[in-house]
Amino acid sequence: MTSAGRFAPSPSGELHVGNLRTAILAWLFARSTGRSFLLRVEDLDRARAGAEAVQLRDLAAIGVDWDGAVVRQTARGALYEEAIGRLQSAGLTYECFCTRREIQEAPSAPHAPQGAYPGTCRNLGLAELEYKRSTRPAAIRLRADVAKFTVRDVLHGAYTGIVDDFVLRRNDGVTAYNLAVVVDDAEQGVDQVVRGDDLLSSTPRQAYLASLLNIPVPEYAHVPLVVNSDGVRLAKRDGAVTLGDLDAAGIPAGEVRNLLLASLGLPPGTLSEALAAFHPAGLPTAPWAWKGIVNNH
Ligand SMILES: [Zn+2]
Repeated sequence: MTSAGRFAPSPSGELHVGNLRTAILAWLFARSTGRSFLLRVEDLDRARAGAEAVQLRDLAAIGVDWDGAVVRQTARGALYEEAIGRLQSAGLTYECFCTRREIQEAPSAPHAPQGAYPGTCRNLGLAELEYKRSTRPAAIRLRADVAKFTVRDVLHGAYTGIVDDFVLRRNDGVTAYNLAVVVDDAEQGVDQVVRGDDLLSSTPRQAYLASLLNIPVPEYAHVPLVVNSDGVRLAKRDGAVTLGDLDAAGIPAGEVRNLLLASLGLPPGTLSEALAAFHPAGLPTAPWAWKGIVNNH
């Protein structure tokens, strides 16, 4: 099995400087540890026509290269079904018929963490199950036997987060992100996951699921997000934040790369040149504020 890192964007639109900074970090973590670097398009949900091609072009423009062919999640349904089947055979799943609203309005179990599934469908009787099956399609949930799980993160140390009976396959048949990401990383030999720290809270669920599937848990590094001048997570509405917009404003891709490298305390130049100065332990752990551009070009 190869040893690999990866970047896994959702093709829902153009990448902004926050996404590009995370991609650079994932590349630096992988290349600095002798790993190969893979690109996976997470297109199960919210994919927008044409977005993938623009994302790949922009990654290449700032010098992020990858090994092998791009993998797309929509081509991997059989792998996800195989994993769900293994969990089903082990008695680790159940059917859930709840609507979003029913989940919100259900009384939560005492001491249950905020946002956790209340377990409504966990122990349906046979008659009730048959009736519900006739009313709407079922989602498949994990029958978790823990409420918390601890992961280790290169930047955050030990992190304990909630694990509930999370969805593995939605009731519209789409594989849930938490299942797909675990199966994909294992199947692709990814043993280092570098991504935005907004995903840290879902990591215990994924690591727990990996343990149930007898999959080794990867090394995690959840890197700080880029925020706007108000301290809020950067978004498209924050002005010129994509390579296309910045180029139109007179800032070419190479200059954007240098800005991002500078935000990481790294010298300007190619990513290969930045490798020599890259030390994960020296990374800033606070969010980086994108000040926007002063259009003086
Ligand atoms: Zn339910």
